[in-house]
Formats: sequence, structure tokens, C-alpha cells
Amino acid sequence: MLNRREFSKYFVTGGAALLAPSSLWPAGNPTASPQQPANQTFDLLIEGGTVIDPAQNIHASLDVAIKNGKIAEVSKDIPKERALKVVSAKEKIVTPGFIDVHAHCYDGVGLGMNADRYCLTRGVTTAVDAGSAGYATFPNFRKYILNTSTTRIVALVNIGAIGTAMGPGSLDWVNPQLTAKAATDNKPVVVGIKIQLSKAITGAGDMECLKRAVEAAEIARLPLMAHIEDSYSPLPGILKMLRKGDIYTHCYNSRTHGILDANGKILPEAREARKRGVFFDPAQGQTHLNFEVADKCFQQNFLPDTISTDLTVIAVERRVYDLPTMVSKFMAMGIGLDQAIGMVTSNAARVFDYGAQVGTLRPGSEADVSIFELRDGEFEFEDSDGGKRTGRQMLVSKAVVRHAQVFVNAV
Ligand SMILES: [Zn+2]
Repeated sequence: MLNRREFSKYFVTGGAALLAPSSLWPAGNPTASPQQPANQTFDLLIEGGTVIDPAQNIHASLDVAIKNGKIAEVSKDIPKERALKVVSAKEKIVTPGFIDVHAHCYDGVGLGMNADRYCLTRGVTTAVDAGSAGYATFPNFRKYILNTSTTRIVALVNIGAIGTAMGPGSLDWVNPQLTAKAATDNKPVVVGIKIQLSKAITGAGDMECLKRAVEAAEIARLPLMAHIEDSYSPLPGILKMLRKGDIYTHCYNSRTHGILDANGKILPEAREARKRGVFFDPAQGQTHLNFEVADKCFQQNFLPDTISTDLTVIAVERRVYDLPTMVSKFMAMGIGLDQAIGMVTSNAARVFDYGAQVGTLRPGSEADVSIFELRDGEFEFEDSDGGKRTGRQMLVSKAVVRHAQVFVNAV
């Protein structure tokens, strides 16, 4: 799955790479066998980086030790001798593996991209596939994509029978019972239900589709992610249907029935939805992010809960590119580094039940770790309507740890 030209899988015992690891056998310990030195506690040590873990309020120069695929310790100056393998993260940022709550990973079907190539290689260890498959196509999606990917992919089942490839078509293909059954049968990799509400997809039937999607989510006891853009029905009625834990994705789009009223004020129904626990997610994709809409929301203290991509084969080539670029873009829009990282780690971890502790480097959690370079310079970012923004910093993925292996980005 991995394209070797772009990304070299690197077992830390050999080879050359950007983050050159040093193999540090405890040469001064004659009693220890090379396989199991007496004082060796950890499988991997990431040393000397600036650790940013918003879940624990950490922003400090620390080492990260890993054992048995879990975070074992995060502290200062962990002796190298205690680790089988050591990776230097000097002058780099070390974070929990990023979580993209909205991506399209059905590689080869519709607009799906390859998650190992465009997520894992960019520091994203967990991607949520946002409804690429529906109940009729889910077995194929699970067999050929979810079960074979190195990236942790969890999925939302689309309320339309065949997923985003074609939308629901007719209401005959919007079946809450069968959608809920596909979701329940495929837990824990299924973490929610997805609906797309727009004139082009659900048209005048949007409220009926939404009713059925909420019903599927209720039966399966899962959250519902609602793509809402240029919907046939006004936003307030749609938002009222969303429950605590549901997600309004594409929240800063500029189309009709958006989050702002005619005077540029946040709709009261949006504030009410947030108050009762609905998440707001921007997911730029092709058409869904407008800087001026986002600015007006930010000025009214309405920041997103998460930052996501809506990554497709088109979005990887233009405007969006990957999640670290989107994080950098939101930094250019005024969100601080730690807060932006929190939106793709600790906040994103709260949106779904991933079946594993992710989004933090707290000891005991999954050893999903990203190593970034924070480049200074002038970087131009684009929204979906031709708007431009210049940023001063760009996060660039350098390496990622997943399944207790280090993958080094060779770009
Ligand atoms: Zn999408």
C-alpha cells in the first residue's frame, strides 16, 4: 500500500533516513544479553523532541518511551540504555498521532484516496471514513480497505445504500434498519452513521432522509455525522434534529442555509446545538470552507471542535492536501499551535469511540505518535471559494509510529 518513493517504512535497527535513529545497545553492561539487557525496559524511545499533548496540557521538551505498542512513559531524560531502539526528535514536535474525523478512504471507489499514502505518511494514524460505503457495499469496504490498511481506519456507514459514490438516489435506498444492522454487525470499526444533506444529493427529501439517518443512529447507538451544505431545507430545522454527540460537518461553508444569518450572526440554533453537545467540524474537501464565514464565526467565539480534511483523490491535489496542512491553515486563521493540535488529537478523540485510547500520549494509550517539523516562512493557504490566507508556520510530517513500527517520511 505504501508508495516507497514517498514514504519509506523504516525498522529502526537499520537503514538511513531523515530521522536517523541510533541503535544503542548497552555496551557497558556485560551481564546483559543483547536480546534482553537487564535494564532494558522499552521497545522504542523518541528522544529530545518538543512534546505537545493537549489532553495532558503538555508542551515541553520530553522523551517518549514505548513498550508493547503502548505509551509507557513520557518524561525528561529517559536513559537511552533502557530502550531497544532510539529515534531522535531533536528540533521536532512530537504529538499523539493525528486523528482525521472526516476522510474518504475507499481507495478506487468514487473519490476515495489511499489512507496509507495520504494520511499515515502525513502524521495521521487514525482516519474516520465519512460514509464512503453504505450497507450494500460495506462488506467489500471492510474486506479490502479497513482490514488491509496500516492506518487505523474506522468508518461511518452512509444512510444511502451504496455510500458516497452515488448518494441515496431514491428513498427506497435509504433504509434505517439495514444501515443500523451493517453498523452493528461491523462494530467496533464502525463508529457512526453518515448523511449528506444537499440539494444535489438528498434534494427535497432531505428531512425524511435525516429522520431515517437519526433512526439508524438510534438503533445502532452511534453518533450521526451530517454533511450539511446548500441543503433544500433551512439549517435551523436540521440542527434541531441533531443529538448530543452528533456532528455538523462542513460548518463554515458559504452556500445557502449556512451557519450565519443575513447579518452575519451565528444562528441561535447553532449555539443551542453546541450547548447540547453537537460537534462542529469544518472538513474543507472541495467546496466546504470559506475564510470569511470562518472569520465571522471566530469573531463570535465560535471555533470548530475539530479540524478535518474531507480528503479525496481531488482534495489531496489541491487546497486541502493533508491534515497537517489544514492544521497550519487554521493556524493562519488565528488558532494557536497547541489549540490546533488539540483539535486533531484530544478533541477528535472525544468525537467517536475508536475502540482504543488514542489522541493522547498518556501512559497506557496506543503508541500512535507523530513527529513533525514546524517550518517558518510564508505559506499561502486557500479556502474553497478563491480566498487566500498567508501563514507563518507549516507543520510537515517527518515520521510516525504505528503498530510499534517507525515510519519515516523520506520526502
Ligand atoms: Zn466528505
